[in-house]
Amino acid sequence: MGVWFTEKQTKNFGITAEIYRSLHSEQTEFQKLDMIETKEFGNMLVLDGMVMTAERDEFVYHEMIVHVPLFTHPNPKKVLVVGGGDGGTIREVLKHPSVEKVVQVEIDEKVVEYSKQFLPDISCEYGNPRTELIIGDGFMHILNSENEYDVILVDSTEPVGPAAALFTKGFYAGIAKALKEDGIFVAQTDNPWFKGDLIKNAIRDTIEIFPVARLYTCNIPTYPSGMWTFTIGSKLYDPLQVETSRNIDFETKYYTPKLHVASFSLPRFVEDLCK
Ligand code: SAM
Repeated sequence: MGVWFTEKQTKNFGITAEIYRSLHSEQTEFQKLDMIETKEFGNMLVLDGMVMTAERDEFVYHEMIVHVPLFTHPNPKKVLVVGGGDGGTIREVLKHPSVEKVVQVEIDEKVVEYSKQFLPDISCEYGNPRTELIIGDGFMHILNSENEYDVILVDSTEPVGPAAALFTKGFYAGIAKALKEDGIFVAQTDNPWFKGDLIKNAIRDTIEIFPVARLYTCNIPTYPSGMWTFTIGSKLYDPLQVETSRNIDFETKYYTPKLHVASFSLPRFVEDLCK
């Protein structure tokens, strides 16, 4: 039979993976942290029983949270990442040569520590001189920032514990203040099968605060339902107004300029969440 890890995504439904072994397990100050070695998807970071990232499919999430906003902004220089302690988001941000500095505010230093140890290809850019890692609360950092960032990426856990405040209208208003006058933000907003209300609230709040507000999706096998959403709010640039025939100067495995635009075409039941 072997040993299996199961994430219960609802009371009645879950995803399960056979594992070789547990690599590390501890209760940190903020959450239960598990690092496991799965047979199908490589090493996997699990927080409070929820899959955060896995070696085999992490590229989808990290490319899509980063390249859609960074290719929408014509000249992103200063980027803030809230959360994202595995390091995948800063790795993708640093592929953009215009970026001079990426500040990351992660609340739990243990996530960074164990990602460096067990997810080396994801956490590989920690220590890059263009990065600054702050161990602290992203909500407080946003409240204390003004007119500072070109792009803000909210790479958070689900809205429980320390991440609950990251899904509030007050937080999105703080993001608008922390962004420059042509700034853009993206937040991961979970899946439309089990978390429709979360998406509805996020897009409604974003529409009320930002002149441009849209939802886009991607496909991630290890995340609940496999279908993931991102909410984007922009003060000026529209993510749909990008050149789909342009070339990009680095390799990607999921993102393409054509997919950038296509990812905003939503199935009807997801479009309905944005009304
Ligand atoms: N890709 C993932 C997903 O959608 O499931 C998110 C992964 S990332 C590891 C999430 C990170 O957000 C965690 O490391 C967690 O510690 C961090 N986090 C949660 N609340 C936070 C807060 N208020 N400020 C900063 N970081 C926070």
